[in-house]
Amino acid sequence: MSSIVELSAVELAAAIASGDISASQALEAYLEAIERIEPQVDAYNEVLTDHARTAAANIDAARAAGEPLGPLAGVPVAIKDNMCTAYGKTTCSSKILADFKAPYTATAVEKLHAAGAVVIGKTNLDEFAMGSSTENSASKVTHNPWDLDRVPGGSSGGSGACVAARLAAAALGSDTGGSIRQPAAFCGVVGFKPTYGRVSRYGLVAYGSSLDQIGPMTVDVPDAAILTGVIAGHDTRDSTSANRPAEDYLSEIETPIENLRIGLPDEFFTDALDPQIAQAIAKAADMYKSAGAEIVNVSLPHSRIDADADGKLSSYAVACYYIVAMSEASSNLARYDGVHYGHRTEEDVEGIVELFSRSRAEGFGPEVIRRIMLGTYTLSSGYYDAYYNKALKVRRLIKNDFDKAFEQCDVLLCPTTPTTAFAIGEKTADPLTMYLADIYTISLNLAGLPGVSIPACLGSDNLPVGMQLIGPEFSESTILRAARMYEKISGVTRLIPEIARI
Ligand code: GLN
Repeated sequence: MSSIVELSAVELAAAIASGDISASQALEAYLEAIERIEPQVDAYNEVLTDHARTAAANIDAARAAGEPLGPLAGVPVAIKDNMCTAYGKTTCSSKILADFKAPYTATAVEKLHAAGAVVIGKTNLDEFAMGSSTENSASKVTHNPWDLDRVPGGSSGGSGACVAARLAAAALGSDTGGSIRQPAAFCGVVGFKPTYGRVSRYGLVAYGSSLDQIGPMTVDVPDAAILTGVIAGHDTRDSTSANRPAEDYLSEIETPIENLRIGLPDEFFTDALDPQIAQAIAKAADMYKSAGAEIVNVSLPHSRIDADADGKLSSYAVACYYIVAMSEASSNLARYDGVHYGHRTEEDVEGIVELFSRSRAEGFGPEVIRRIMLGTYTLSSGYYDAYYNKALKVRRLIKNDFDKAFEQCDVLLCPTTPTTAFAIGEKTADPLTMYLADIYTISLNLAGLPGVSIPACLGSDNLPVGMQLIGPEFSESTILRAARMYEKISGVTRLIPEIARI
């Protein structure tokens, strides 16, 4: 048997269920890997050793007593630190929540507990999930396990890095504009953003409430399928959660889709796309074709990516997303004022207004402050129609384009990112360049659609190249099966960086 940390979550659950290894043994293997590798990667804000040891021991006791085990019994899973857990801290990698202990656990995490998963730690992120590199964290900089001088992507960079480096069997991330898929692409893992409303947002600290969605980050597609099946489903505590029962995505994952129609969005293939990524997508399309799929060209005019003479990118979708996301963020983050929630200034203040403003100025980092200010501006009277309302109209046009494209195809195939993982520090001086890292991922959040990023291949400098499959609402099963088809025909799956090899 391969070493414990090289098993997938599905395999590990099977090995524990059959008694080949115990949940405690599995956990200790991961804790040992964390001790060795985590100091170089810095994926975790907090490793919950005691909590995890108790949880693993409980699984072993339940098994010994002959009690039924859940589908993820004993599997160590890491949680992005913007999901509430009633144990440990929930910091959102922000100084303003540095000591916050949540009074309850997020529904998605509760569902993992119910399935027997062992929560092993909370992972680093860009502060309040605002960023594309995890460099906006007030906690630490996470390093890409494939090249420690590069970013893991963001905002779920800690979750991506910890799965890539085998410091957890799987992780949860959240995706507002690409924060599961982009770090998955940079770290060479699978990242799945379900349809908006498919997974409850209860207990996910809100960033852009009309965009946010929790999803799994895993070493392969069957793992993404099992985790999605576990965390999905209706939740009366989230009024935006879809009233549809959870599905078993794993049972049908190995069944290829006959007559699959794959659409390539014309507008996504510009000169500004890294040629090795363009080639990887073209090769993937060829492989699907050889496997019997039909390839069609489709158009997403309002998600168009333009490049000027200097190669600088622009897109309606990016502009629209940042207005919607910042407007919602400015409203959602109003609760952190040192009274309701979060850090309170210790300075002498005169009155409540100064208390609020000083506490917020001390607690929030520069990117969060920028977004609150921009979002407040786009929502303010006189500008609301010019910015926020207009962005909502563009959002509808973007959605209409997708609806039209899905009349011609079952899934869309496109890049996840315009480049592979960039260097730490490369984009921190220019927020706009950083925003463009999500140029391929944000339009589907605006449209509420599901999408997965899977590794397409290893590119130059031994860095993973991701590719994205997008489908209509609630087409989780189709997307995951199509992704699994690629894993099988290409043989590209479970990429392991040197640092994680034993
Ligand atoms: N990078 C995008 C942003 O900063 C997306 C982040 C996310 O999906 N949470 O908003």
